[in-house]
Order: sequence, then structure tokens, then C-alpha cells
Amino acid sequence: MNNDNPNNRSLLRHLPSVDKLLLQAEGLVGEYGRLLTTEALRHTLDQRRQHILSGGNGSITASDLLGLAQAWLDDQFGATLRPVINGTGVIVHTNLGRAPLSEGAVAAITAVSSTYSTLEYDPEAGQRGSRTIHGEQLLNQITGSAASLVVNNNAAAVLLMLTTLCQGREVIISRGQLVEIGGGFRIPDVMVQSGAKLVEVGTTNKTHLRDYANAISANTAAILVAHHSNYKIIGFTSEPTLAELAELAHAHQLPLLYDQGSGALLDVAPYGLEPEPTVTEGLEAGCDVVAFSGDKLLGGPQAGILCGRADLIAQLKRHPLARAVRADKLCLAALAATLRHYAAEQATTQIPVWQMIAAPLAAITARAEQWATRLAESGIECEVINGRSTVGGGSLPGTSLPTTLLALPHPNPDELAARLRGNNPPVIGRIQNGRFLLDPRTVLPNQEETLLQAILQQCGRLRD
Ligand SMILES: *Cc1c(COP(=O)(O)O)cnc(C)c1O
Repeated sequence: MNNDNPNNRSLLRHLPSVDKLLLQAEGLVGEYGRLLTTEALRHTLDQRRQHILSGGNGSITASDLLGLAQAWLDDQFGATLRPVINGTGVIVHTNLGRAPLSEGAVAAITAVSSTYSTLEYDPEAGQRGSRTIHGEQLLNQITGSAASLVVNNNAAAVLLMLTTLCQGREVIISRGQLVEIGGGFRIPDVMVQSGAKLVEVGTTNKTHLRDYANAISANTAAILVAHHSNYKIIGFTSEPTLAELAELAHAHQLPLLYDQGSGALLDVAPYGLEPEPTVTEGLEAGCDVVAFSGDKLLGGPQAGILCGRADLIAQLKRHPLARAVRADKLCLAALAATLRHYAAEQATTQIPVWQMIAAPLAAITARAEQWATRLAESGIECEVINGRSTVGGGSLPGTSLPTTLLALPHPNPDELAARLRGNNPPVIGRIQNGRFLLDPRTVLPNQEETLLQAILQQCGRLRD
């Protein structure tokens, strides 16, 4: 400590007061208010005093101090939920918010969110309406279901389904289907919350129809199938088909419940992915209720959707838990708009997740090459290489799509990755074989320019 240093004492004396800085901080006051700005200035000046007292030197201008206060305010109180550029090639990336919405879905949210709406009002009758009508006709039309219900997410959909139809009784499920869905949450733990007793049958890799049949008792409420959506058992495996299970369940007057998970409404096989059962196939196979997410392969907002037999869906709608897990108006508006893309047969041109799945390899290669050319003009020589994109989000385990990647030149890819993550908006890529890679498939076209600017800036800085 050399705080007796006359030089330091003079630096301390030259620091402006909070009040004086406040007069120059109209911008900050406008954004964060006087109270928080005052706190930020106090904090910034304290830091500066500490810095000087511990021997640091160099004078600082008022505008630098305001800049530090702004940075502190942004860090403490700025938006933590903000856009990122997804260059990972994982289409439904749970950590990055799953499905980006279509323009139509965003417009629908905007339209109902800044005004009052018909959420639970029937303007023709001039009286209270039902929130559950929004999107139901579309869901029934698209999936071939008799009735549908939208709730907050698929975990809630499964919970509502089991609570309503199986509470206090037994549900038969294959051991191979007790899945963990990420974030440490296990679907079996959610299922147990319903008060249903899970009766596990078979082994991890093999479950026979007779295993289910042997487990049926007077206390059985349903047979449940959970799609193992985020892992794949390969090799010596077998499970009865949905149709076989439906036949068995119905022979005992039991419903077959299906946690389909991904919300695939279209066949993915034409795009080179391994076939994933669609919601419609589940219903056609005889499932009595099918539950799935709105923001995975369906490509819409966070939601849980239940389709199936009219009498069962009516029971779910009436259960008190339905009120606790109900969908909000923004979700309902976006979901209906997303479903209209399917009804109009425009999913692969309007819904980002499907545009990404359906993107031809040649188009992705052309984008990667365009980026490389643009960056080369500024002296950043990238390589364009072959790679794979994945669907992710607990969908389509073990299958991927051929893609073309941009490999950025850099001796230290971890450092480059950290710098790009620190960009505003953050750019997320992946590191493979010591190279930092970006996959154009998951970069939205309207983010391309921002991405290139970020690379120019961060790669440029690295060479300084
Ligand atoms: C994703 C998934 C869930 C959970 O759905 P959320 O919408 O995230 O709540 C449940 N079951 C299966 C099979 C899934 O794939």
C-alpha cells in the first residue's frame, strides 16, 4: 500500500463526485433510473479509489467512468435472456431456446399481446368463451385427432394425462422407456408425481407383448409408451409396436397413452433422417391419447399438446390440474399460427425448424462459401469442410444430416470460441479436432450479416 504517495493522493482528489457525474449521466438515468445510476456511479468510484489506493495509477476521464458505470448496470440489470446466433448445427437446441418461431407466429404474438384479446371471450355470443378452443380445430384437422388440449409444456401434458386417467392406479411401461430428458429431469419422476404407480416391465433392451399382458391386473389404469427421444438402443432390441399394444390395451378396456415427445407432424425420412413416428401415426395405430411438445419438431412455442379420444380429452380439460398447467395467450397465438403453416402445406417454407431440416446441402455449401469469400476479402482465410448437423432437443437420436461447415483459422480455438460468446449477440459454434466450426444450417438468414461482423471483429482483434 502506498497511499501516502502524493501522486496517488492527487489522483484521489481529482476523482469527480457522484453528484457531478450524475449531471452528465442523462443517458444512464433515462435507461436505468436515478436510483440505480447513483448506485452504479458510487460503485464505479469506489472501485477506482481502491485501484488508486492499491498503487494503480493513470488518470481517468468522466466519460470513462460513465462507461464503466454503464457496463456495471448492463451486467447487473441488463437483459439476461437475449438473442444468440446458433452456429452449432443443432437445430432444436434446448439450451438455446429450442425452435425459433416463424414470422407468422411472431406476428400473431405481437397482434394479441399489446391489446386485449378474445382469449376467453366469444364476441358473437357476447359472453365468456373458452381458452381451449384456440388451435383445437387446427390440431384435430392436421393430426386426425377427435379432440385436443394445449397446456404449458409436454412434461405438464404427461402429468395431466396420468393424474387424470391413472391416479392411484397402475400404469404399465417398458423399462427401456424410462428416460431422462436433460437438465437432470427424469420423466419417470414427473410421472410419479401424478400419483400413478409405474409398473415396469421387460428389460432395457427387450420388452415383449407378453410382458405387458402378464402385468395387467384389476388395478391397471393404462399402458404407457414413452418415445425414447434422446437416446437410441441399438443392436439386440425389440419392443411391441404401438398397434400391438393398442390391441392388447383395448382387449382389456384400457387406454393406450403415448408420450410421443418430439411433436413430429411431418415425416422426416424424405430429408435423410431416420423415420420418427408422427403424431398422426400414433393416433392411427390406436393410441387413445398422444402427448407431445410444441417447441421441438413441431417448430412452435413452448407448449404441451394432448390429442386423442374426445371423452378422455374432455376429462383432461375438466381436471383442476388443467388450470394449473394452462397455456398462456402468447403461446396459444403462436401455436395456432404455426399450425396454420402445416394446414396450408407450407411448413418447410415457413417454419424455421423445417426450413433447416429441408435445406438442400448445395444451398448450405453456397452460404459457407459466400461467408468464406467475404471473410477472405478482409484477410481472414477460412476453410469450408464437410460435416454433420443434428436435430437435437431430444429428437431423432443417432441420426444426422450432411452439412458444410466454415472452419475459422485460429491457433487457439477455445479463445476464439470465448470471444465469439462474448460478442453481442453471442455467437455459439463448436470445436472439433482443434478447430472452431460454424454450421450455416442453423444460422438464420437475417443473422448472417451480424455473424460476419462478429467474426471480423473478434478474429481481427485476435491478430492484434
Ligand atoms: C421433450 C420430452 C418431454 C418433455 O417435454 P417438454 O416440452 O420439454 O416439457 C417429455 N417426454 C418426451 C418423450 C420428450 O421427448
